[in-house]
Amino acid sequence: MTCKKNEWLKFYSSDQEEIAFPLATIEGAKPGPTVTITAGIHGAEYPGIVSAIRLFKQLAPEKVAGKIQIVTISSLKAFESRSMFVCPVDGKNPNRFFPGDKNGSYTQVLAYHLFNDVILKGDYYLDLHGGDMVEALEPFSIYHKSGNEKIDQKSLEITKYYGLKNIISTTLTGSWPDYGTTYANASEHGIPAAIVEAGGIGQLDEESVNLHMKGLYNVLRYLGCLEGEPVVPENLTFYDEFVWVYTPKKGIFYTKVKVGDEVSKNKCVGIIEDYFGNKIEEILSPINGKVLFLTTSPAVKENGLLMGLGGQPCKN
Ligand SMILES: [Zn+2]
Repeated sequence: MTCKKNEWLKFYSSDQEEIAFPLATIEGAKPGPTVTITAGIHGAEYPGIVSAIRLFKQLAPEKVAGKIQIVTISSLKAFESRSMFVCPVDGKNPNRFFPGDKNGSYTQVLAYHLFNDVILKGDYYLDLHGGDMVEALEPFSIYHKSGNEKIDQKSLEITKYYGLKNIISTTLTGSWPDYGTTYANASEHGIPAAIVEAGGIGQLDEESVNLHMKGLYNVLRYLGCLEGEPVVPENLTFYDEFVWVYTPKKGIFYTKVKVGDEVSKNKCVGIIEDYFGNKIEEILSPINGKVLFLTTSPAVKENGLLMGLGGQPCKN
């Protein structure tokens, strides 16, 4: 039976605070896989959120094979309070706490239910992001190499068909960019997955929404949920290294690069000044790479994140 429905999944944190997910589901007319889409894991990354909602509005169940389940805003409290990266209830970044802990704090319980009650019920998984309020970025996707060749190949294919120009693969290192993330945990549990990023600096820009929409439709065609031949995207660059650059000191950050710039190892990519204008730190690039995201706010904390670099391009 075909249907299109919206519902609220409700759970409670250990101190009885309500955790609610807006879940939109499309049951297709024909058999097919279950595809899970989450947006708003970071509540201020709007292009992903709006694309997820738009997809739900546009899809007609009669034209869908299988099931598409969409959590349109995963970290709802963060969205409602315009909180960057973290959930305001406990100050935790959900994308560091998967697969979650049902006895943990608010964000850990949220991650637990999102993972167990939604993501693990699907066959494939896409996590839509869009650059937070102080984050400019080049559109990029990441998939995780779990070591299971079949799963990893499928994750790579999904990532390719999404069509964002920069593709990074990661392996588990026990720390970011894999540890605790949605997509890495999904693929470690046998679900081909990718995180897809287009957007930035708190904007809801149509160009980024279009990138997401194009990617979503193409992946759904590739997976056989929608009719039509998927387009094989061209001009993709693959990286097997994703290096994050931090400032050792707090202060005022002046960047020397833009997103998309190629940088060479030891090139000065930014400086940090104190509050009297004295240079206190020169930030050097640790690798040859491309600037995939950049912190746009000059206010940086000690050990604050400045940028992410895609390492030496590789073949895939
Ligand atoms: Zn994000």
